[in-house]
Amino acid sequence: MNTVYISFGSNIGYREKAIEDALYLINQNGMKITRMSNIFETEPYGYTKQPIFLNGVVEVETELSCRNVLERLLYIEKKIGRVRKFKWSPRIIDLDIIFFNDALYNEEDLKVPHPDMQNRDFVLKPLCDICPDFIHPVFKKTIKELLDDLK
Ligand code: ATP
Ligand code: CA
Ligand code: CA
Repeated sequence: MNTVYISFGSNIGYREKAIEDALYLINQNGMKITRMSNIFETEPYGYTKQPIFLNGVVEVETELSCRNVLERLLYIEKKIGRVRKFKWSPRIIDLDIIFFNDALYNEEDLKVPHPDMQNRDFVLKPLCDICPDFIHPVFKKTIKELLDDLK
C-alpha cells in the first residue's frame, strides 16, 4: 500500500464545490482518502493578480503507481473543467502530488516530492495539520521544521 499526499487548490468558480467533487472523484478512482487538512484561504502565489485560493491537502492510500496517480489526477482536473491557459493562471481545480511514500521522481512531467513545496506555506500549513512529523525524503526535515524555516 502506498501513502500519497495530494494538495488541492481552487481560485475560480464555485471553489468549495470543485474541491468537494475532486475529493469525491479521488475516492472513486482507486485511491482512498484517509486524512484531510483544514481548508485555508490563501493569497495567490507566483502570478499574484488573480482571485484568492482555497487550499488544502489530503492523505491517500492506494495500490496505484505514482505515474497512475498523476494520470488520474490530471483526468479528474479535466473532468471538473480545468483549462490550462498560462503558467499559474487561475484554475477551478489543481491537484498536485506532494509526496509518494518517500519515493523520488525527477522526470519531465513527474517530479516528486513537489520541487517547490518547501517554499509554499499554502502546502506546508495544511500538511502540518495531518502529518507534521513526516520527513521530507530529500531535505531530511519534518514538515513542521520546513514550515518553521519558511516563517
Ligand atoms: P506548480 O507545479 O508550480 O504547482 P501548476 O500546478 O500550476 O504549477 P500545472 O499546469 O497544474 O502546474 O501542471 C503542469 C504539469 O506538471 C502536469 O501536466 C504534470 O505532468 C506536471 N507535474 C510534475 N510533477 C508533478 C506533481 N508532483 N504533481 C502534479 N503534476 C506534476
Ligand atoms: Ca500546483
Ligand atoms: Ca498542478
